[in-house]
Amino acid sequence: MKQMWNDKRYHSFDYYLKNQFGRKLYKLSLDGNMTCPNRDGTLDTRGCIFCSAGGSGDFAADVTLSITKQIEEAKEKIAHKVIPQIGVSQYIAYFQAFTNTYAPVDYLRQIFMEAIHHPDIAVVSIATRPDCLGPDVLALLAELNQIKPIWIELGLQTIHETSAKRIRRGYPLSTYDTAVKNLRALHIEVIVHLIIGLPYETKEDILKSVDYVSASGIQGVKLQLLHVLKDTDLVHYLDTMHVLTLEEYISILLSCIEHLDPAIVIHRITGDGPKDLLLAPLWSGNKKLVLNTIQHSMKLQDSWQGKNCMHATVTKEVVTCNQKL
Ligand code: SF4
Repeated sequence: MKQMWNDKRYHSFDYYLKNQFGRKLYKLSLDGNMTCPNRDGTLDTRGCIFCSAGGSGDFAADVTLSITKQIEEAKEKIAHKVIPQIGVSQYIAYFQAFTNTYAPVDYLRQIFMEAIHHPDIAVVSIATRPDCLGPDVLALLAELNQIKPIWIELGLQTIHETSAKRIRRGYPLSTYDTAVKNLRALHIEVIVHLIIGLPYETKEDILKSVDYVSASGIQGVKLQLLHVLKDTDLVHYLDTMHVLTLEEYISILLSCIEHLDPAIVIHRITGDGPKDLLLAPLWSGNKKLVLNTIQHSMKLQDSWQGKNCMHATVTKEVVTCNQKL
């Protein structure tokens, strides 16, 4: 059955926020001063092949400031976008750079508690790796989740072990499965990052990753177009890998959305790489063009989220979506 989410053909993040919180929430990118086992020598020193020196946190706040000061500074930066609402918390504290559960749990407690108790924060979203969620970290997350919602973002990127090795992800798919199971047992929302356009992956490979993730019990995805950034090892693949054209990307993306369970929220539908570092694909720098082409193509092809999903769960939330049509 065809579904719509207000004016969108997919379960958009904005739709989810309005439905869940009754308002738009604004993301504040914070820096918890972490590193990553893929960078500090525990697993590797080189990082994933696509990861820039900022550890995927190129938009984060100044790490030398306290979390409270970072929140204030990040609020200032986006003040022109925010429509203020008196008496409600309007922000998501987003710990984005590197692996944000990769530190002693006492330190994690200190920074996450500081963020969660800030009156303007409604949600704390933590980007991490599935292999950095030990029992002590899970216990802390469960405690935090009793105070305000905690979202955990897992950088899976692909389900294929050959690709995972090529990009130097550093953990097997079974580690992802365990992490999702543990987090869901604590009622923590899980958002999974997938990359479209990894070296040598076919459209079928990408759709298999989407199908797998879609059936794995998660609540959100970020569908990230692969960006080749300066000074990353991905640059060495440019001679042999295929860089997607806008048309190819749109075709794959629409199929991904059609394969995705309609209950899953799409937190990101494309990518937002730092323009000064972007080498390829250069068309992705024009975000407005990309988003408009997605909307237009979905309409033209009568495409919608879940159209080709084999395991879609008809949740209360989706029924609500239909009722709002
Ligand atoms: S796990 Fe994340 S932070 Fe670490 S190297 Fe890979 S992309 Fe970068």
